[in-house]
Amino acid sequence: MDSRTVIVGGSVGGIRVAQALRSQGYTGEVTVIDAETYHPYDKPPLSKSFLDGTLSYDRLYLISEEEVRDSAIDLRLGDRVVGLDITGSSVILESGPAITFENLVVATGLRARPSPWEATDGVHLLRTLDNAQLLKEDLLGAGSVVVVGGGFIGAEVAATARSFGLEVAIVDPLKIPIGRVLGDTVGERFTGLHHSNGVSTHFGTGVERITGAKGNLSVELSSGAVLLGDLVVVGIGAVPNTEWLVSSGLLIDNGLICDEYCRAAGQSNIYGVGDVARWYHPGYQALVRVEHWTNAVEQAACVAHNIINPKESDSYSPVSYVWSDQYDWKIQIAGETAAASDCVLVEDPSNHARFAAVYSNRSGSYCGVATVNWPRAMIQCRRLLDKESDISIPLNLITALLPSV
Ligand SMILES: Cc1cc2nc3c(=O)[nH]c(=O)nc-3n(C[C@H](O)[C@H](O)[C@H](O)COP(=O)(O)OP(=O)(O)OC[C@H]3O[C@@H](n4cnc5c(N)ncnc54)[C@H](O)[C@@H]3O)c2cc1C
Repeated sequence: MDSRTVIVGGSVGGIRVAQALRSQGYTGEVTVIDAETYHPYDKPPLSKSFLDGTLSYDRLYLISEEEVRDSAIDLRLGDRVVGLDITGSSVILESGPAITFENLVVATGLRARPSPWEATDGVHLLRTLDNAQLLKEDLLGAGSVVVVGGGFIGAEVAATARSFGLEVAIVDPLKIPIGRVLGDTVGERFTGLHHSNGVSTHFGTGVERITGAKGNLSVELSSGAVLLGDLVVVGIGAVPNTEWLVSSGLLIDNGLICDEYCRAAGQSNIYGVGDVARWYHPGYQALVRVEHWTNAVEQAACVAHNIINPKESDSYSPVSYVWSDQYDWKIQIAGETAAASDCVLVEDPSNHARFAAVYSNRSGSYCGVATVNWPRAMIQCRRLLDKESDISIPLNLITALLPSV
């Protein structure tokens, strides 16, 4: 068999592996298969600039049509992979044929967790371009929306809906939803951001029922309150697309279990990348699965290197990074903020919409940073995160950026 790498999943993780294989000198065949029919597109704008109409679909392309052609990437769209035969080194397509591989990359990501409630008409999920297109059309014709889930995607949809002038309510069972990631002190600022933008929050209460239809939906809360909306957006997380692997014998547990080289457990030529991969992170000495864009990109480069250089494989030990845009806040988060034991806030007195939060772990070492509208502080603090340092070091760096009084 000629050397061939098959990549299942043509979103950011899969496409970046294909590109990195070529840029790192791989000369074998590269086949990318995706169940969607659209030319590969990027997802972060789906809740932001695509949803508000600033960016059109062709501006979301992850790779140009010319690059696909010039890099000899065999891109097969609109075909779902339904099985993996490890002994025969092949994947089976829904359309019938099997495709053999020398190396396989699993890049099948996540799908939105479905709404468990009764109503469906006017109830939206947001993961794909089709989801975003439908939501955009409905938002344009609506007067009010209830967003179920106060995480990043829910918050971004709320912000976009407000920019259209809709009445917006957000519900979440957690008292301080973003506190789960950034701690309660910073999380409360995010709640305040919703309020100052005219969004009503119903935090610390779950949803019992959603009934009705588009234009007339009722969201009954466990607190007893009932929220009315023309639309509902359900943003309650996402689940790994691993069903096609279940009978293969690969280890699946909240994602594809991989070793520190991003190889599927016990396999030498099957790799996981992006949101679907749950790999052993040598720095944390634990299995982790990360649902952020930058991780998919960085992991793709590592996987391509390891495919080309199996005897000199690199372990994958990234410092996590994510951004979010909500209202007029540009939010950037790096490192381990969720597990931190302490957090120090630094505010810029000359700009009330700018602050940084610096996190330390139990032993007092610096472990994470979050910034709002302060990219310079992020750049300076993020690069300190790959080595151990005292929290005073990033704090001094940020303080030095403040205007002198
Ligand atoms: C609305 C939205 C906003 C976001 N905003 C941000 C942000 O601001 N910052 C940030 O860091 N991250 C953000 N993210 C997360 C980021 O987009 C993801 O981390 C990234 O898309 C993960 O890429 P992936 O390639 O691993 O998986 P996915 O993007 O989930 O892609 C998986 C691909 O696999 C295909 N597939 C699945 N199963 C099969 C199969 N059996 N056969 C063939 N193809 C299959 C799917 O069609 C899909 O194209 C956002 C995500 C969403 C949905």
